[in-house]
Amino acid sequence: MSTVAAISTPNAVGGIAVIRISGDDAIGVAERIFTPFRGKNVGDMNGYTCAYGTAHDSGERIDDCILTVFRAPHSYTGEDTAEISCHGGLFVSRKILQAALRHGAVTAEAGEFTRRAFLNGKIDLTQAESVMDIISAKGDAELKMAENLRSGAAFRAAKKCSDSLLRILSGLAAWTDYPDEDIPEVEPDNLLSELLKIKNDLFSLVKNYDSGRIIREGVSTAIVGRPNVGKSTLFNCLSGFQRSIVTDIAGTTRDVIEETVRLGDITLRLADTAGIHLTDDVVEEIGVEIARKTLESAEIVIAVFDGSCPLTTDDFELISRLKSENSIAVINKTDKNIALNEEVLKKHFIHIVYISAKENTGINNIQTAVSEIIGLRPEIFSTVTVANERQKMCIENALDSVNQAVNAIECGELLDAVNVLLDDAEQKLLELTGEKITDAVVDEVFSRFCVGK
Ligand code: GDP
Ligand code: MG
Repeated sequence: MSTVAAISTPNAVGGIAVIRISGDDAIGVAERIFTPFRGKNVGDMNGYTCAYGTAHDSGERIDDCILTVFRAPHSYTGEDTAEISCHGGLFVSRKILQAALRHGAVTAEAGEFTRRAFLNGKIDLTQAESVMDIISAKGDAELKMAENLRSGAAFRAAKKCSDSLLRILSGLAAWTDYPDEDIPEVEPDNLLSELLKIKNDLFSLVKNYDSGRIIREGVSTAIVGRPNVGKSTLFNCLSGFQRSIVTDIAGTTRDVIEETVRLGDITLRLADTAGIHLTDDVVEEIGVEIARKTLESAEIVIAVFDGSCPLTTDDFELISRLKSENSIAVINKTDKNIALNEEVLKKHFIHIVYISAKENTGINNIQTAVSEIIGLRPEIFSTVTVANERQKMCIENALDSVNQAVNAIECGELLDAVNVLLDDAEQKLLELTGEKITDAVVDEVFSRFCVGK
């Protein structure tokens, strides 16, 4: 394959920058732009060895660097690879890249090194996709999930199903292609029970996609309540800085203010809303209406009540709009005396939390309640194997075909029809792992990558 080069470190000034060169002539390119101090020959260097020397371009010295050599197939891409680590200035690293380009390499596309790793069979497509997830992980949970994928968890799960399908398909083929041979007849009942097993496995893969989505993208969460109960104060508390305006004038927050907030391992897409109450003010009413809509579409609702005074008509109106399974009743202002009737809330809510937003106390209990609602147990992080829409679509399509095959058998249709459907399912699983895939899909997957990875 052609030899490509790119700067693999960020486009910024840093301690070290790395220029990566990969392909048939990678060591040759390195030899032409790098000379070791100790008279070694770059071309003679073994894999996994380094040399200290000078990078230069046509006789002009650029920088003192370290060259690391990887020999095919023992490199990230599976090809000969040279990595030059230089001082981390933008100018220096670009000059070395230019030298590499002038001496036989071409510019690497975004994700080119990982694409080559995939094309050279070093990793499957789901592992390639996980590389981007590892780079963009914002917390432990995301990193664990991405690591799980990188280790090939999705591949193994899909492979298990596709191997079972393959076994069934070959059984069917033998039986239909050689009807005269003494091959045991395919029993519809056995076939059915094997397919139901595959169906279950595929279904649980699709299901855990949702847990993954929650970890990656966050849970949409609305803070609601009547005016002045402390919604904006809580919002600021959770987001860690003053973003929403807090005053004791009712109706200060008129629009929805959103922020992505991390609570432990959970990411919330948090929205502060206008106080929900009856109002004659036309502008305020627009805010109230938006707040009601935000409440309805949110996956989790944090309903704030002022603990220092009894519940009001507006509070009761709000309570009637809330579902106990996805709401947390937050009793705020516990730094004052409690005057609110807690029994009423206990009847309506499963999750009740006491806080003082002003003094920043009790906030951890909100985190616990959120975890309970989304059922996010730590073990989920290591079982999530479906990472993105592409993978999910492949599994859903495979599941769809298996379902149709099950129906066909139950309706007593010919095994030929079943055969076609199961073959469809098998193709989809091969697409998931990248074993059978079009160039367009490969392009699409790697278009998400950055240059140098
Ligand atoms: P919102 O209308 O629900 O957004 O309420 P704000 O966050 O704007 O707060 C309304 C008033 O309640 C402000 O004066 C806050 O300082 C006050 N407040 C908010 N949280 C607390 C709390 O925990 N304790 C006390 N004592 N006052 C609070
Ligand atoms: Mg407010």
